[in-house]
This record gives sequence, structure tokens and C-alpha cells, in this order.
Amino acid sequence: MKFISGKVVPEISHLNIFIIVVIALFYILPLSSFAQNGDWERRINNKAHKIDGHFNFVSLQDVAEALNAQTYYSNKARKAVLTLGVERITITAYNPYVVIGQGVLQMPINTQYSKGELFVPVKFFIPILKHVLQNSGAGNNNISESDLIKQGVNITGVQVVEKTNGTLIRVNTLTKFNKSGISTRYSRRWLYVDILNGKVSDKYFSAKIDTGLVKRVVPVQSEQLVQLSFQLNKDISSKDMFVTQHENEIWISIPTKNNLSRNIIEKLKSDKEKWKIDKIVIDPGHGGRDPGTIGRSGVYEKDIVLSIAKRLKKLLVKKLKIDVFMTRDKDKYISLKERTQLANKKGGKLFISIHANWNRNSQVKGATTYFLGLAKSDEALEIAQLENAAIKYEADEKNYTQYNDESIILATMAQNDYNKESQDFAAVVQKALNKNTGINDRGIQQAGFYVLVGASMPNVLIETAFVSNRKEERLLKSSSFQQKVAQAIFESIKTFKVKYESELYIN
Ligand SMILES: [Zn+2]
Repeated sequence: MKFISGKVVPEISHLNIFIIVVIALFYILPLSSFAQNGDWERRINNKAHKIDGHFNFVSLQDVAEALNAQTYYSNKARKAVLTLGVERITITAYNPYVVIGQGVLQMPINTQYSKGELFVPVKFFIPILKHVLQNSGAGNNNISESDLIKQGVNITGVQVVEKTNGTLIRVNTLTKFNKSGISTRYSRRWLYVDILNGKVSDKYFSAKIDTGLVKRVVPVQSEQLVQLSFQLNKDISSKDMFVTQHENEIWISIPTKNNLSRNIIEKLKSDKEKWKIDKIVIDPGHGGRDPGTIGRSGVYEKDIVLSIAKRLKKLLVKKLKIDVFMTRDKDKYISLKERTQLANKKGGKLFISIHANWNRNSQVKGATTYFLGLAKSDEALEIAQLENAAIKYEADEKNYTQYNDESIILATMAQNDYNKESQDFAAVVQKALNKNTGINDRGIQQAGFYVLVGASMPNVLIETAFVSNRKEERLLKSSSFQQKVAQAIFESIKTFKVKYESELYIN
């Protein structure tokens, strides 16, 4: 396992919250009050292992399992949330700050990150857990989440939070409810939320209310459902209210548009517009003195992929009325670095590098879509090396010598904001290719492609088919197949665009 000690500027520092430095907390907290809470501490210690040789670390997932708690991980922000009772503990990769509700604790050392998992230092994190358990109610009355689940309880509390654009009611649940079983009704300053198959315990229900709109909440258990009744301080327009589900919570959003100044609304809107996929960068692989792979018939990869790229551009411009930028539109040499630099300069929102594959075994066939990351299979590594070999045509190969494995990881992390989107998009492309062209689906893979490093937008590299396979070489040369591939990529862009843009509007 490899860990990179990178520096992440603590994003939380700009939040207007007080920072308590609590080195003392680690030593002062009484240990006895938790003894009866079972042996979660021992379970955490059992899973711990040394990182960097000094401290024992444990993954947040293991912590959650030891506590029977839930975690939610945001790949995009490299943040994870651990829910203990009504309390939420947020940690960030390579960061010493632990956000608990409205407060922040600072550990003496940073958290660690590896392969999509966050690791916390055991010695400093356990005291924080104890502190939170003491205050959150999760450890109170000796009731643990697993006890509650045994009793059939599935709703544990609510939090009401005032936001700039309204009020958010978060119902903490232990299972995911069917959205069709959740209904809301508003009458005379009372908001009723009915949750079918919900169960509360009068011994264990916690409410945290930020003042503002909600005065109090009354949970009522009936045979088939739980009714949460919220008494409000003022009238609301019930038609603006909406219910969404987020991991182990039900959110009821009550927008108060009129409180929001026009400027803020406009700002929010333009922020979202910024992320819309309105410009696509198509990168036909190779070109000029770099022919790419060469088929038995003498066909060049650079020519095939340029033809596919042109067809794709035509479809996008004609049918989606979208702006398209091509890194090359003729048989011209462009360095790998220049390609992403151009894409960034042009303000692209999606980067698609199109290639054709090669294998020494002429039986190998099919399509693969890659996104940037550490190669997890020999095949992925081999393909990346093959495509990366294009640098031998560049005047200054030294530009790339720093791209050893480790810098690929760092580059991946630097553009981690788009990693999840790139992976999602790769999956959509693969599916569409298989559906539209009938080509063998070799799945999505990650590998360290230089051409993807540094693209500040979701990006993928598509290996459409194998030039080294006789049948596929014939297909790749045919205009009907090229058109089908272009159509498939076009369909996947359409699908991804809708999905990606709709997510922008979830608060
Ligand atoms: Zn290629």
C-alpha cells in the first residue's frame, strides 16, 4: 500500500466556525463511561495498522463497522461523514480537522487516504468518538444502533437546519425508505410528514432544531406509519416543498425564495451554468509523424480515429447544438500535453480521447473505455504504456519523465474533482458502444494515460476496437462502423449530459 503525504488546504477553515484545539481532550476524557458500550474500541484497535511507521491508522469504514454506524463518502470532495446518533463527524483526506456538527477539533496529525478510503489515526480519533458518543445520544441509555434495529426502530431523530435559501429538515433513518411511502401535508402552521413503515422509539428520538422556521417536532407512532409533526413559526407555501433521499436521511426542503435576494439567486444560477456541459473537446489520438498503431493492411490508427472524431463532431453540432473543439482536425502532430492544455484553454467541459487498440494476440477484440488512475491490471498498464509511447515523437521527452507511478496518483488526486464523473461517463460510453456497434464489451478500466493528466474536466480515453484483430481492422476501416462508433459516443454524451446536469440542481 502506498500513501502519499500530500498537502490539502483545509477547506473548512473558511467556514465561520470556532476551532477548539483539544489535545488535552485526548487525555482528560473519562474512559469508564464507555466501558459498558461494548467493545467497539477493541474492534477498532484490532483493525489498526501502522502507516508511515509511527501511528496506527484505521479506515473509517472499519470504525463505522465497529460502532454499527453509517458512513457516507464523497469521492468528489474526498470527505467522509460518519453518523453517530444525530451527530455527524466529517473528515477530509490529508487533513487534521474533524468537523463535528458546528464545531471543529484538530488532531495532532493528518488523516490518510488510499484507494478511495480514508484512514484516521486511532490514538487521536478514539477520544473524539468518545466525546461525540457522550454528547450525541448515540451512546446514551446504553442503546446502540444495533439494539435499535433489533427493536425494529428505523427513525432515530430529526435535525432542522436553516439555509440561505430556506429550511432543511433532515430525518435520520436507519434504513432507506421507499420514496413513494413518504408524504407531506401542511395545515395551519403544522407540517406533517408521514413515513410508511417507519418506527420510532419514545426512549430514543433526538431533535436538533436551529430555531427559525420550526418551533418543535412531535413524533407519533401509529400502526403502519410514523407521523412527524412540525409546528412552524410562520406560514409556508407547501407547493414549493420537496422530499429527497440522501443515504440514511430523508430531506424535506422548504425553500423560502422571497427571503433570498435576486442577486444571490442569479449567482447560484450562474454558478450552476458554469458546470453545464456546453463545450466538448474531442481528441483524435496521434497524428502527423505519430501514426499510432498500424494494421496488417497498412491502415493507421491516426486516420481511423480522426474520421470517427469528425463524424462525432458533426452529430454533436447538428443534433445537440453543442460547441465542439477538436485538438486536431487534420493529420497533424500534437504533443500529449498540448492536448489537455488546449482543452483547458478552450474551457471544455468534457474531454474525449479516441483511439484504436493493439494486442500481440490477434484474437483479442472489443472496446474499453479508460479513465485516469493507477492501472489495476496488467492489460490496463500495457495499454497505457502503448498510448504513452507517443511521447517518443515529441521533441522534448524530458517533459514526461516525472510521470512515474506516484506522480500519476498525485495527478489523479489533483483532478479528483472529476474522477467520479469520468468513471461514470466511461461506464455510459462502454454501454453505448456495446449497444450501438455490437462490439465486445471489455469494460471500463483505469490507467495512467499522460493525455488525460491535467484535464480540468471529466475525461476519458476510448479504445474503440483492435487494429490487430483482422475482423475489427476491417470494421474500423469501414465508414458504416465508424459512423456507429460516433453515434454510440454521441448517445453516451447525451445520456451523461442529462444525468450530470440534473445533479447540479440537487441542493
Ligand atoms: Zn492510440
